[in-house]
Amino acid sequence: MAYPPLDHVSPRRERELRREWKKNYKALGLKYPRLPTIGFVELTAIKTPTWAWYKGIKGLTKTDTSIWLRRILARELMREDEDAGGTPRVTWTSWKTCRICKRNLLGPEAENRFFLDLRITGEWTCCGPDCQDIERARLEAPKNKFQPKLAKSPCISKADAR
Ligand SMILES: [Zn+2]
Repeated sequence: MAYPPLDHVSPRRERELRREWKKNYKALGLKYPRLPTIGFVELTAIKTPTWAWYKGIKGLTKTDTSIWLRRILARELMREDEDAGGTPRVTWTSWKTCRICKRNLLGPEAENRFFLDLRITGEWTCCGPDCQDIERARLEAPKNKFQPKLAKSPCISKADAR
């Protein structure tokens, strides 16, 4: 994945830069940020298997025939469906959770979060205008696991509205 500071550098220079960044992060006791790819797998021949229910991404859509999984697992589920004679559809996007409001961010919002995290001090910068309000509401809300707190998130509703 190429992002702004690496746009015009050689692969060799990129490796050097990444190594340097990782060292800086480690020195600060932080983890080097990543921007994972996830896939929304829509099954046609099989039903969502038990292993996938456990590995599905928390807070995103999970149904009998469709589920969000990390890249490698999404491929695996795709293969299982193909082996059963199906033609599964997969929608890929980048994914990141915000450290402050704990929301699942997809696509451009995830990339934005990733670039903020890359700036070391940016880790505690809000992911959007409603980031802190959501976090405050989350902390003040009574602990009730049946509360649909993630369903209302604007970050999810755009890409995950199906
Ligand atoms: Zn946030």
